[in-house]
Parts: sequence; structure tokens; C-alpha cells
Amino acid sequence: MKKNSDKTNHLIDMSFKSAAIKDPLKMDNTIAANYRGYVILDPDKDFVLNNETGKILENSCPTHAITYQNDNNDLKIHLDNGKCILCGNCQVKSPELIKITNKFDLAKKTNKIDKIFGRSLAIREIDAGSCNGCEIEINALNNSVYDIERFGITFVASPRHADVLLVTGPASKNMEKALKIAYDSTPNPKIVIAVGACACSGGIFGNNYATTGGIDNIVPVNVYIPGCPPRPQALLYGILMAINKI
Ligand code: SF4
Ligand code: SF4
Repeated sequence: MKKNSDKTNHLIDMSFKSAAIKDPLKMDNTIAANYRGYVILDPDKDFVLNNETGKILENSCPTHAITYQNDNNDLKIHLDNGKCILCGNCQVKSPELIKITNKFDLAKKTNKIDKIFGRSLAIREIDAGSCNGCEIEINALNNSVYDIERFGITFVASPRHADVLLVTGPASKNMEKALKIAYDSTPNPKIVIAVGACACSGGIFGNNYATTGGIDNIVPVNVYIPGCPPRPQALLYGILMAINKI
């Protein structure tokens, strides 16, 4: 066998560049141009709201996130991002009114949360009947790109060790009792975060014989993070919002 005289061939390149995004939330609030984030009503000059356009829009939405009302000729369109699964149908039907932005800062807080959670946070994730799309994004929080532990936030195995319950899924009737038990097992003070359109409102599953139509029908929710699924930055934004870091 021929001996390799070039010693540098045997050296492994140890130069290491961190894969982590410096600050995932300082990305101008925008991601890839085709990412579907916040949906807004932004009528341009060609849009006329009448019974026909209102009904077309309402019927285009599979989760009833868009509702049209005609109260004695007072015409209104209402959009609920918590129910939106980002399918894009409404924008196809009515590009003169609907704009799907690529902003991820969708989370909403329902009440003021105690500052006690400022320094570190233990999260217990609960899948209450999700399709696992949300879990894939939650998993990404722990990878070297998003690296949630740099914020002092860790995932734990038991609700008894948790400050936060991060809940996905509509929740299914089969998970209703388990979710209640997990909530009761989490020490006070605690935060509940609903992740994804399903947990926020029932999402694509809605409220039917097998689901409960959103986890706030079972446990009190402090923060809602819409999306289907919400991307890691949206999750991080919502979690940091929960501990008053946003
Ligand atoms: S993008 Fe959202 S609001 Fe529009 S039709 Fe789909 S679910 Fe409804
Ligand atoms: S919000 Fe979307 S991705 Fe998340 S569990 Fe529901 S259907 Fe799946």
C-alpha cells in the first residue's frame, strides 16, 4: 500500500462555525418570501364588499376563520387568525382583499403573566391529538439552529417539573382527561400555551364528536400561537412573550 506522505491529509478540519441563528427573532419579522404567516384584510381599490364577494370569501375558508355579516346593510368581514390553517384559498378567491404575509409574530397573550418566570423556564409539551406537524416544529426549537436553551428554556419530562404546558392538538376527547390531569399536576404559578390552529380553536378538526374545539374548552390558556403549524420563530416569539421578554 502506498504511504501518504502528505501529513495534512490526515488532519481533520476542526474549524467550527456555529449553525445557530444569532437571534431568531431579529430577522426583520420575515422569513422566506413564500412562507405563509399572518393573514390580513387589506383591500385594494378593486375590492368591493357586497353579498356576493362576502359569501365567496366566507365559503372559501375551510375552518370558518373568515365570516361575513350583513346587518341591515352594515357589511362586515371578520378574520380570525386563530382558526386559520394557512391553506391560501381565500387569497386565491379574493386577492384584492386578502394578503397572506410572511410575518411570524402571531402570538397573542390573554392576560398579564407574573414576572416570576423571568430567568429560566421548564416546558412540558403535551400532544392532545395533533397531527404531529406542530411537534416537528417544536422539536426544531432544540436543534442547533434555533437552540432554545440559550434563553434558559428547557423541555422536561413531567408536568410536575414544568412551569409551562405547551399544548398541541384540538384537543381530542380521548386526551381531555389526560390534559386536565397534566394541568392539575403542574405546580402553580403555571402558564398554558396553545400551539397551532388546532389548540387555539380546533383548527381543521373543528369541534366534533371526537374533539373539543380548542384546548381553552378544557384548561385556561395564557398565550395562543396560531399557525398550521407555527414555525420555530413563531413558537419562540410566543414562549418569550409568555415570560414577558417580548
Ligand atoms: S388561508 Fe386561513 S383564512 Fe384563508 S381560507 Fe385558508 S384557513 Fe381560511
Ligand atoms: S395546527 Fe396544523 S400542524 Fe398543528 S396539529 Fe393542527 S393540523 Fe397539525
